[in-house]
Amino acid sequence: MSHDLASARRLIVKIGSALLVDDASGDIRRTWLQALSEDLARCRGRGQEVLIVSSGAIAVGRRHLGLTGRALKLEEKQAAAATGQIRLAHAYQEALAKHGLSVAQILLTPEDTEERRRHLNARATLEQLLALGAVPVINENDTVATTEIRFGDNDRLAARVAQMISADTLVLLSDIDGLYTADPRKDAAARHIPEVRELTPAIEAMGGAAPQGYSSGGMVTKLAAARIALAAGCRMVIAEGHGLHPLAAIEQGARCTWFLPAAEPRTARKRWIAGTLNPMGALVVDDGAAAALKRGTSLLPAGVVAVEGSFERGDAIIVRNGDGREVARGLSAYSSADARAIAGHKSGEIEAILGYRGRHEMIHRDDLVVV
Ligand code: GLU
Repeated sequence: MSHDLASARRLIVKIGSALLVDDASGDIRRTWLQALSEDLARCRGRGQEVLIVSSGAIAVGRRHLGLTGRALKLEEKQAAAATGQIRLAHAYQEALAKHGLSVAQILLTPEDTEERRRHLNARATLEQLLALGAVPVINENDTVATTEIRFGDNDRLAARVAQMISADTLVLLSDIDGLYTADPRKDAAARHIPEVRELTPAIEAMGGAAPQGYSSGGMVTKLAAARIALAAGCRMVIAEGHGLHPLAAIEQGARCTWFLPAAEPRTARKRWIAGTLNPMGALVVDDGAAAALKRGTSLLPAGVVAVEGSFERGDAIIVRNGDGREVARGLSAYSSADARAIAGHKSGEIEAILGYRGRHEMIHRDDLVVV
């Protein structure tokens, strides 16, 4: 994978509060947003899928509730986010509509990206939006977040989203043009690092402490995001985003830091499915289905002859052939009870049997690893 933004297929752009919101007035920087929208429209125009993770709800909202001039308590931040998020969403909608792009708001909590059933649903919605050509605008669901269950920063949220939807490129637009050996604002000898391929302890040590201000990020959370992204096979770039057309600037070779993963997103996701999960049950499949799986297809209910164990939708399960040999592992699109009901049936019969229209596949090929 190269340093080339134009090669991204599924691109996430994370926008920090300090870029989107004018510090003095608390207003959205419309000219900047307009220029960014032109960049995003160009990406969409050349066939790239684009998602935005935007901060700024608290910074935009606080003024409207008279919450200025001091540090805010958690519940005040949540109130500020509630009023700011509407303005944020509206600003994106207006800016991207000029390019014929529809935006869709998604507010997530850490649980939505971690708990498997919610993870699958959030992912399915994001996939659907991308398939329909919309640009998801994502933020943390600040109003329901508590101190314990909170990302607190959108750097990590953006990386979790990248992992969830197997994005290949994550851009963190920030107020600094990448990673330095020390804080360049304090240390004149600080050296810029253009590329990172592994998060060694030496690199981690360059993170330093979190800065003051509205943005809760800093280099520490950017490195935490890099760790998540790289493990998911997603490359990440930290770039200075203050100027107009920040994505065009990256393409034209502006200074930034690229974090490059060892594996592609699909490979990384499959390794995760194969390696780290505890299987909760098994599906026994007929020979035809076992052979089809080897060719890379999804597992359909028609090929399933028996269901073992008790599992929920999204749980990891084993797929066995008639001889009892493991042929694959994957995440089930159905609970064990529903799987039993539809096993051996055609996908077209699922709705009549279960009373709802579920997925066509018992295990989708993206969620399946053949062993
Ligand atoms: N979710 C917060 C907001 O919209 C921002 C978190 C962050 O600073 O990254 O204001």
